[in-house]
Amino acid sequence: MQELTHYINGEHVKGTSGRFADVFNPATGEVQGRVPLADASEMDKAVAAAAAAQPAWAAVNPQRRARVMMAFVGLLNRDMDKLAEALSREHGKTLPDAAGDVQRGLEVVEYCIGAPELLKGDFTDSAGPGIDMYSMKQALGVCAGITPFNFPAMIPMWMFAPAIVCGNAFILKPSERDPSVPLMLAELLEEAGLPKGIIQVVNGDKGAVDAILDHPVIQSVGFVGSTPIAEYIYGRGCANGKRVQCFGGAKNHMIIMPDADLDQAADALIGAGYGAAGERCMAISVALPVGEETADRLMDKLIPRVEALKVGPYTSGNDVDYGPVVTAAAKENILKLVESGVEQGANLRVDGRGFSLQGYEDGFFVGPHLFDNVTPDMDIYKKEIFGPVLSTIRTGSYEEALGLAMSHEYGNGIALYTRDGDTARDFAHRINVGMIGINVPIPVPLAYHTFGGWKKSAFGDLNQHGPDAFKFYTRTKTITSRWPSGIKDGGEFNFKPME
Ligand code: NAD
Repeated sequence: MQELTHYINGEHVKGTSGRFADVFNPATGEVQGRVPLADASEMDKAVAAAAAAQPAWAAVNPQRRARVMMAFVGLLNRDMDKLAEALSREHGKTLPDAAGDVQRGLEVVEYCIGAPELLKGDFTDSAGPGIDMYSMKQALGVCAGITPFNFPAMIPMWMFAPAIVCGNAFILKPSERDPSVPLMLAELLEEAGLPKGIIQVVNGDKGAVDAILDHPVIQSVGFVGSTPIAEYIYGRGCANGKRVQCFGGAKNHMIIMPDADLDQAADALIGAGYGAAGERCMAISVALPVGEETADRLMDKLIPRVEALKVGPYTSGNDVDYGPVVTAAAKENILKLVESGVEQGANLRVDGRGFSLQGYEDGFFVGPHLFDNVTPDMDIYKKEIFGPVLSTIRTGSYEEALGLAMSHEYGNGIALYTRDGDTARDFAHRINVGMIGINVPIPVPLAYHTFGGWKKSAFGDLNQHGPDAFKFYTRTKTITSRWPSGIKDGGEFNFKPME
């Protein structure tokens, strides 16, 4: 069994708290390693190393900092297969999906190569007589990030790449479910030329998170995970005077209009609903067909597709559509919610209960489920299931479907399938959700745009990656300067406009 470590000041260090969490292979159900859970004294060591290294890193010119990111991209591509394998082994997702996880992180690293341009300040010549005014974007100091299990490569990179290229040191507290890839990423960053102490990986659970939230040296906290924890971290981090952004859970809808291409819509629902076993914050978990006839036709197309889904271990290569869920507890929670759906009267058209895979009976596999005739009061609609379960609510009109999606507490992503430009335009303007797909099922914005939901899916002012990340990881300083030859007046007592 592998004993994992922390990565502090350029070294793999063993945990000293005496607390560990098991790391499973979700396909077999076996414990394949254990990860140390840091206490506050271990966090202190990482923060001290980060604080000592950060000023020299911030003084490195932005083009040289960007070159480290450029080299890091090369190393990610070199090690893509190795990273994907390690990721699948702990998370369970298929190898192509794991490579996609690395790739979507890598794209944000590529964006960060533009740091010299993105970090340029503003300058106003002659803002007043002999007066120039300019602003600069400076690093915050030591930043921290707390990440979820479902994208163990992408989400850490979304945080640490912009933070580091802006001149900060970064402490990553990854999910304790799949910590190997974050440790590998830290090693690769240093191979790319990052000085020791600028990236640290401190593994742990609530204890490590609280140590981050209460540490006076840490200036900012980024979090991605479930909404109750997002609310907790946002509240405690802000109360401690930190800059905080938290991204939470989701319940993403797809509205299917009667004029939509229903084959395209059904294919999209299969990929977006069941890909990665539904363990994506941008997964579509609710289908809202408009009109009974659309609903009937959609069901006819969905049922055979869902029944044909291939579920298996990542070692089966391209032969599987999705793998196991991350833990036995996650599997139990999903099946409990499915049971509640049946009890509350939803119509289970494809029943994945009792699914078992020969040779992998102890793995955390969940068969695909498809519900019809779901109503908004049911738990399977109100709660995030985070599993391979698609719920269908039949709606009578576009307005009814729009109203339903708008009144849900989450607002991460949503899709509309239609051929009608007027409906699409109306939808994009009125919907209160952060990321919108028009005939696109998983509208994850690319690296140079920003990623973030609305309502209970996000807390804080700025989104992830794109220009917002450069705002989140820097603070602006504005300088007004005048040289002795330009100073004409004596003392000034009134607050007056610039001449
Ligand atoms: P989680 O909230 O259980 O854990 C996320 C992080 O918080 C982990 O690092 C974990 O160690 C830590 N944590 C857990 N319990 C804690 C506690 N009581 N106090 C302090 N820290 C704690 O989430 P998860 O199960 O790892 O990930 C799945 C969730 O993440 C889903 O809700 C999903 O929608 C969400 N997610 C959201 C986005 C987004 O961008 N909005 C992206 C990916 C995942």
